[in-house]
Amino acid sequence: MGSTRHHRVSINQEHSEWVRPMNTISIPNELFGTNVFSLATMRSILPRPIYDHMKSIIEEGAMLDPATADVIASTMKDWALSHGASHYSHWFHPLTGATAEKHQAFLTPIGGGGVISEFSGKDLMRGEPDASSFPSGGIRSTFEARGYTGWDPTSPAFIMEGLNGKTLCIPSVFIGWGGHSLDKKTPLLRSLSALNNQALRILRLFGNNTANRVYANLGCEQEYFLIDRTFFVQRPDLVAVGRTLYGAKPPKGQELEDHYFGAIKERVLAYMQDLELELYKLGIPVNTRHNEVAPMQFEIAPLYEEMNLATDHNMVTMSVMKTVAHRHGFECLLHEKPFARINGSGKHNNWSLQDNEGHNLVDPGNTPQSNAQFLVVLAAVMRAVHLHADILRAAIASPANDHRLGANEAPPAIISIYLGEMLNQVVHAIITGKSSKNVPKDYLDIGVAMLPPLPAHDSDRNRTSPFAFTGNKFEFRAVGSSQSVATANMALNTIVADSFQFIADSIEIKNAEGRDFLESVQEIVRELFTHHQAIIFDGDGYSIAWHEEAARRGLPNLRNTIEAAPAFITDKAVELFEKHRVLTKEELESRFHIDLEAFVKTLQIEATLVVQMGKTQIVPAVVTYQSRLAKSIQHITSILSDFRATKQTSLLIEVANNLEEFLTALDILDVKLNNAIQSKENLRECARLFQEEVRPAMTAARDIADRLEVIVDDELWSLPKYQEMLFLS
Ligand code: ADP
Ligand code: MG
Repeated sequence: MGSTRHHRVSINQEHSEWVRPMNTISIPNELFGTNVFSLATMRSILPRPIYDHMKSIIEEGAMLDPATADVIASTMKDWALSHGASHYSHWFHPLTGATAEKHQAFLTPIGGGGVISEFSGKDLMRGEPDASSFPSGGIRSTFEARGYTGWDPTSPAFIMEGLNGKTLCIPSVFIGWGGHSLDKKTPLLRSLSALNNQALRILRLFGNNTANRVYANLGCEQEYFLIDRTFFVQRPDLVAVGRTLYGAKPPKGQELEDHYFGAIKERVLAYMQDLELELYKLGIPVNTRHNEVAPMQFEIAPLYEEMNLATDHNMVTMSVMKTVAHRHGFECLLHEKPFARINGSGKHNNWSLQDNEGHNLVDPGNTPQSNAQFLVVLAAVMRAVHLHADILRAAIASPANDHRLGANEAPPAIISIYLGEMLNQVVHAIITGKSSKNVPKDYLDIGVAMLPPLPAHDSDRNRTSPFAFTGNKFEFRAVGSSQSVATANMALNTIVADSFQFIADSIEIKNAEGRDFLESVQEIVRELFTHHQAIIFDGDGYSIAWHEEAARRGLPNLRNTIEAAPAFITDKAVELFEKHRVLTKEELESRFHIDLEAFVKTLQIEATLVVQMGKTQIVPAVVTYQSRLAKSIQHITSILSDFRATKQTSLLIEVANNLEEFLTALDILDVKLNNAIQSKENLRECARLFQEEVRPAMTAARDIADRLEVIVDDELWSLPKYQEMLFLS
């Protein structure tokens, strides 16, 4: 009799499959950026005037003219061909949250059966994907049927290597013919521009007349799970939706805390090293790797970069992580919650601002002047996050992230800011005008006195905060591991730009009244700290007490996507995003629609799978076990006439009862699923039904199956168990 659990013996991978011969390991320095058409590459091969023009496009946002585009395109093509690329593709971020490509060969047929390689400035600047299947939330049907991709010259083209060929990828925006954004990159670029405009006003008010650009910097710490691919392919749920819909908690989970920062297993390390080499070639400066909290959970982080580039790099990183994993017999799980009752994965979004002279605006610095400017930036961020906590929350809402936020791990769904004790005291002292032990009186004179030194790792003591000041950056920790960071940062940039505008306007008015500049700063900082101190919270974000306190403070607690998503279409949001020319009302509404649709589709697939896996994999195993038990009891009691088999009978009863319960739960789920689908015409109502009816019914069914998993014959259980997936590698 063949066991269904053949996967048990097959995971022991031949080491030779994933060990690179030493002589093929290159030194990262030589490898770094070899597949990138970077400024450095352009400098070495473009004619000098063209290179200078390109540099001004990238650094100052100058416009590209068609003649220059032709020269760049032809140089880029020659470079790509010499690196072995046969195809090119505009590479963009549609609203699915993934990336998209449509490959085009460089070869063009000419008469007589010949071909030449062709790639004009026009080809570089614009592509027209047959994009009618990308979500548009109704925008394109109202305006135009199709959109086009347009080259984003501020993010360098790069070569992606496949098993049998290479493709030149051209980072692009994706817009409808009416100028509507159909992607995640366009609004991010628009928000960076708004931020630049308003931040420069602040710098000018502080007398800085030399800086002419303010950038946002971003460093994404990316968490992920690895499991052996043999297990992955046997889990229809992991294959279809990236998370396990069934699975009992293993006897050993993360309780012993022996995984976090532990020694990295050899096979995993081999994967990480291979991954890093691939990322180096693509010019992605990854520099940290370590084990995370849960078994088989890890983190990779790059050095921070300019935000648009860092965002593209994070998208590329996620895709390379998956590809390289396959080479090593692993599956890389980026889902926010692949395993219930085990820690999920997120992405710490480290955000700061920097002028083109290299000054970090989020760094307190060590002069009274830079301290004062820092306090203005802090006040701006406090105002932004307080007024628009709902928007930040909506920006990271997804059915997958719903499993993490507010679930007693990672950050709570309530958005608040953590400042660290010292900075907190400074804020308090400025609000009250009262000195304290650590913040003596003469520190309180903004622009004249120095701030007390802020300990660098003050924030390490609180990992429960969704938004923490960490010395010279803010860390938004609620972003999901599989999400594009574009939406979160687009929101963050815009709300901070709005606060800068508010502050610059106020100071300009005071200036016009002839008020002293530093006095005006002092006044406005104090006012903003006072009005927005409710957003500061340094305590335990998981505690019930905080939920009550947050409610008293009027902070929103948007527990799931359905509650959070509408924050993007309120009058407040429309006014904000339109004012800063980041998104129009129509674009916001279409995005909201897409988010709801994605929510509904995801849950529909999940619920359908719960029913199907339940009926085709779990029920049959339980039935077989039940019948074996029944037969065995019948058998044994017929031979031993005095033997009552009480325990065995109660085991049978337990199995039978659970099976009945499980079948009932599947029926209920099925009915609720169909009900929800029935109301698809009304998308909001449909989504509500999925959240309030279908989700709990899925969990109810799962809980019973998970109970059965730990009593039914292991041989019969066809789904790989948590114990195996998380501990065998
Ligand atoms: P943690 O203690 O949270 O692990 P690290 O210092 O290791 O923080 O940095 C995490 C991420 O933050 C890295 O990607 C790093 O490059 C990035 N980072 C560091 N300084 C800045 C900054 N000024 N702006 C944006 N990101 C930064
Ligand atoms: Mg961090």
